Formats: sequence, C-alpha cells, structure tokens
Amino acid sequence: VGVQSNSNINFFSHEMESQFLQMMELEMQLEKATAEEEFILHYQPQVDIETMQIKGFEALIRWQKQPNEVIYPNVFISAIERMGLINTIGYSIIKQACQAQAIFTNVLGRNVGMSINLSPSQFVDPNLFAVIKENILSIGSPPNCFTFEITESLFVDNSANVMDTLNKLRGFGVHIALDDFGTGYSSFNVLRTLPITELKIDKSFVDNVTLNPVDEGITTTIIKLAKDLNMKVVAEGIETTTQHEFMKTHNCNLGQGYLYSKPVSLDKALELLYQEREH
Ligand code: C2E
Ligand code: CA
Ligand code: CA
Ligand code: CA
Repeated sequence: VGVQSNSNINFFSHEMESQFLQMMELEMQLEKATAEEEFILHYQPQVDIETMQIKGFEALIRWQKQPNEVIYPNVFISAIERMGLINTIGYSIIKQACQAQAIFTNVLGRNVGMSINLSPSQFVDPNLFAVIKENILSIGSPPNCFTFEITESLFVDNSANVMDTLNKLRGFGVHIALDDFGTGYSSFNVLRTLPITELKIDKSFVDNVTLNPVDEGITTTIIKLAKDLNMKVVAEGIETTTQHEFMKTHNCNLGQGYLYSKPVSLDKALELLYQEREH
C-alpha cells in the first residue's frame, strides 16, 4: 500500500491498513449500489404540535443493500459525498420524494408536505434548481408543499452560486429550512440575507429541554426568533410527551420524532395516512 521503505512504516499500523481496506471495500460497494439503484427513502411524519395531525414527511435516505438489510446514512453519506456520487443519488432522491408526495397527497385527500435534505456538494451542480423545478412541475403539486433542508455548513465558503440557487428555489415557491439550527456556524446574517422560511431545532436541544434551563432557554429563543422572522419552526427528535407538551405550550408549529413515528418505508407511511384519514 504505497509505503516508503523507511521508518515511517512503523506508523502504518495493521489497524490503519485494515481501516483503509474497509474504506476501499465500502467505496466499491457504493459504486455498485449507485449503479444498481439501491438507495431508497424512508419517510418520517412531521405533525402539527397542536392537533397531532400529519402535515408532511421528511425524506431520509436508506441503502437497501439486501432485501432485509437496510444501512443508515451515518455509514455512507460522507463517503458518497467524498466520491462525488451525491449528485446522481441526490437526483434519484428528489425524484422519489416528489413521486411519494403525489401518492401521499392522493391518499390523504389534502396536500402533504415533503422535506428533502440537500447536501452542500449538490449546490456545486449548476443544474440543481432546474432539475428540482422539472421534477415538481412534472408531478403537478404546488411547489409550496416542498421544503429543502440545508445546514449551516453550506455557508462556510459562501459562494454566489449557493445564494443564487436558493433565491431561485424560493422564487419558484418551495420552502427552505435551516436544519440542525443552532449547532453549526449559525449566523444571524444567514437569516438576514437568505430566503430561509423554516428553522429546525436540533434534537440535541430538544433532548433535555425540560431538564436543562440552558437548553430550555435556547429552544424558547429559537421559537421566538422564528415567529418574529415569520418562519415556521420544527422541533426534531421528540421522544416523550413531556417534550411534546413543552413544544405545545411554547407554540412550536411542527414536531418530528419517535414519539409520533420513526422514519418508515413508503408502504408503512401509506398505512399511517390511511389511519389518519379514518379519524
Ligand atoms: P437529519 O437531517 O438531522 O435527520 C434527522 C435524523 O434524526 C434522522 O436520522 C432521523 O431518523 C433521526 N431521528 C428523528 N427523530 C428521532 C428521535 O426521536 N430519536 C432519535 N434518536 N433519532 C431521531 P437518519 O435518517 O439516520 O439520518 C441521519 C442524517 O443523515 C440526517 O440528519 C441527514 O443529515 C443525513 N441524511 C439523511 N437522508 C439524507 C438525504 O436524503 N440527503 C442528504 N444529503 N443527507 C441525508
Ligand atoms: Ca434534515
Ligand atoms: Ca436535522
Ligand atoms: Ca441532525
């Protein structure tokens, strides 16, 4: 493995070698998985905190490696970004999510929201906006049913290209959410200069919101900030009724978390919607 024949070889331990081989193996499998279209979406409900009604879903990528083997994004998302596969896979995600939105809307009999994660590398492709627009127009749902989730890391090297794409997306009518709000390079300047319409309170604040006064303070401040700026606010990672009640008391708009539902397959999401329709 290309190691010089000097004392450096001592540092290239067996452990590093096996890690390297594992990474190579993963990359090979990801190439194949992309070609064979093994990436699918699971859908996690976003509920109205006030009524507990399902308002929409967040689309979350899964790697269906075998019929009964599902791999989670923490294992592969940084690898597909590094390998430059995120564009191909990203477009497949956008297409699948748009199709699911149309099916869900049809089943529920009213418009269902669909939130789609975009990684910073997807913004490098100048066609991103055009592809999104085309997909949404082809299914015929109103653009404002769709929300694109971005993270603060997108603004590390603040390119004109990012701003231009976000403005076009918003101009078309889709929503833009700032994901994991408060955990990153958060700057009020981002909220001031970019067309953000939704804040997502990170799970790390929600976890101890009723136990830790600092987390409580941050959470209530984010909710107030969102209201003052006319944005929607979503609390992520709600697992307990205590957390739910807290969000209700403080008028958070939407909730997402295991308390309501884990991310589920398309079929299971349809079942949730059928149940919802009967009530
Ligand atoms: P994220 O965008 O912050 O998504 C929320 C994550 O929190 C999801 O993990 C979800 O399953 C998990 N979660 C939701 N509610 C709860 C809860 O009550 N308890 C706990 N313990 N977890 C909860 P997941 O699906 O494993 O995704 C992890 C991350 O991978 C996402 O974090 C996102 O950054 C990335 N990701 C997922 N899908 C996509 C995608 O399609 N495109 C891109 N670019 N990134 C994605
Ligand atoms: Ca997200
Ligand atoms: Ca998040
Ligand atoms: Ca997160």
